[in-house]
Amino acid sequence: MKTIALFGGTFNPVHFGHLRMALELKEVLGFEEMRLLPSHQPVHRAAPGVTAEARRDMLELALADCSQLQLDQRELLRAGPTYTVDTLEELRAELGEAVSISFCMGLDSLLGLPGWHRWERLIELAHLVVVTRPGWQIPAEGPVAELLANHRGNMGDLQQRAAGRILVREQTLLPISATDIRSLIESGRSPQYLLPQRVLEYIQTHQLYKSGN
Ligand code: ATP
Repeated sequence: MKTIALFGGTFNPVHFGHLRMALELKEVLGFEEMRLLPSHQPVHRAAPGVTAEARRDMLELALADCSQLQLDQRELLRAGPTYTVDTLEELRAELGEAVSISFCMGLDSLLGLPGWHRWERLIELAHLVVVTRPGWQIPAEGPVAELLANHRGNMGDLQQRAAGRILVREQTLLPISATDIRSLIESGRSPQYLLPQRVLEYIQTHQLYKSGN
């Protein structure tokens, strides 16, 4: 079965933490495609401080020399709020029922899942690949615990079924966050070596993340 994975985020800006994670998940779980999916207007978190086009441009620069990762711009091109469930409905309609779709997220996102629009539909449309970040524990009760109990699967499920399983993966995360990069720049320090050089040059050329912008 064809396998497609999505790695969503604000990518404000994209950094080596995102890129390593996406590449490792693709290689370890054997996805044929791994698409980075920048969100247009995150509905469950603060709006990013730069335009959607700038975040898209930075992703394009970051992916320019990586044939393994693709950019999926559908959420940026859609007017209005972005709901993951709408994106997955659209993709499922496009790809049909015989393609495995995996949506990758951090455990912190999984814990917030019951707050997402039509969250119970997500697992009917795709698999969830949950990467555990250090310091988080899987809940023992509540809606997320129930979801996990009903849908927990293994790596083989991602190749054999189109949707419906949750894979929890422990993976080392590079200690990089977009928040830290933004605050380094705001305080006049350099984020060099935390993100691709071309992305850094774009940020400098366009004077992004400086206070007052
Ligand atoms: P911010 O600091 O603005 O919250 P972020 O760096 O966490 O941003 P997001 O765009 O919010 O980046 O994250 C997109 C996805 O990347 C999420 O699934 C998140 O769990 C994951 N992610 C963020 N940082 C890392 C990292 N250092 N390593 C691996 N994955 C990461």
